[in-house]
Amino acid sequence: MYNFESQHVIVTGGTRGIGAGITENFLKAGAAVIATYAGNDEAANAFKDKYSQYGEKLILKKFNVSNTNEVEAFFNDLEKTFPSLEVLVNNAGIRRDNIVASMTEGDWDAVIDTNLKGTYNMTRFAVLAMMKNRYGRIINMSSVGGKLGLPGQANYAASKAGQIAMSLSVSKEVAKRNITINNVCPGFIETELLKDLPEDQVKEYKSQVPMKRFGKVEEVAHAVLFFASKEASYITGATLDIAGGLNA
Ligand code: NAP
Repeated sequence: MYNFESQHVIVTGGTRGIGAGITENFLKAGAAVIATYAGNDEAANAFKDKYSQYGEKLILKKFNVSNTNEVEAFFNDLEKTFPSLEVLVNNAGIRRDNIVASMTEGDWDAVIDTNLKGTYNMTRFAVLAMMKNRYGRIINMSSVGGKLGLPGQANYAASKAGQIAMSLSVSKEVAKRNITINNVCPGFIETELLKDLPEDQVKEYKSQVPMKRFGKVEEVAHAVLFFASKEASYITGATLDIAGGLNA
C-alpha cells in the first residue's frame, strides 16, 4: 500500500509482537529496517531467519532503550549503517502490573524507564539525525491504557500518557523541520505481552471491547505505516486509537 523504498526505519522492540509486525510491513514496503530488542536473542534470531529474504535490509541491534549510554552508542554507530534516518517507531515497552499499594519502586521505575524514558532517549537522538535532512516521522506506541487508566496499571498508564504528552511538546518543537510525531493507542492486541493474563480476565476484557475480540498485530502495523508515510505530512501531535471501539 505504501512505498518506503530508500527510506531508513528504526523499530524498537521490533523483533517480537507488535514491533515484529511493524518491521515486517516496512520491509514489505521497501524500507531498510533496524529492529532493536532488549535481550531475547532466540526470538530475534528466529525473526531474522524468517525474513532472511530481505538480506541486509533487515538489521538487528540489541540494547536497552532506557540506558542513555547504550542509546547514544547506538546512534553514534548509526551513520555507518544508515546514510539518513526517516522513521523512528518507539515501540519497546513492558508491563509490571499491580495495585498501587503493592507496586514496588522497582516495578514503577522499570516501566517508566523503558516506556517513557526509552521514548525520550530514542526521540532525542533521532530528532538530531532527522533535523539534518529536514524530514522525519516518529511514531510512539502508546496505549488506550494511558487514557482509560485500568486498575493495576498506575505505572503503565502513567508511562503511556507520558508518551502522548511528550509528543505534544516535541511536535511543536520540530514542526518547522518537517518532522512529525504521533501516537498509536492499541487496545488489547494478541501478543506475548498479555500472555500472563488469566483466562477469566481475558474473557472479561473481551466482553468490554465493543468488537468482542482482541486486535491483531497487523491491524496496528497498518496505522503505524500510515503515520510514517509521506502522505501523512500535515498530521503531528495526534493520537489514534486502535482498540475495537474501546476508546477513552
Ligand atoms: P512484547 O510482545 O512483549 O514485545 C516487546 C518488545 O519490546 C520486545 O521486542 C522486547 O525485546 C522489547 N523491549 C522490552 N523492553 C526493552 C528495553 N528496555 N529496551 C529495548 N527493547 C525492549 O510486547 P507487544 O505486545 O508487542 O507491545 C509492544 C508495544 O505495544 C509496547 O509499548 C506496549 O506497551 C504496546 N501495547 C501493547 C498492547 C497489547 O495488547 N499487546 C496494547 C497497547 C499497547 P526482547 O524481545 O529482547 O524482550
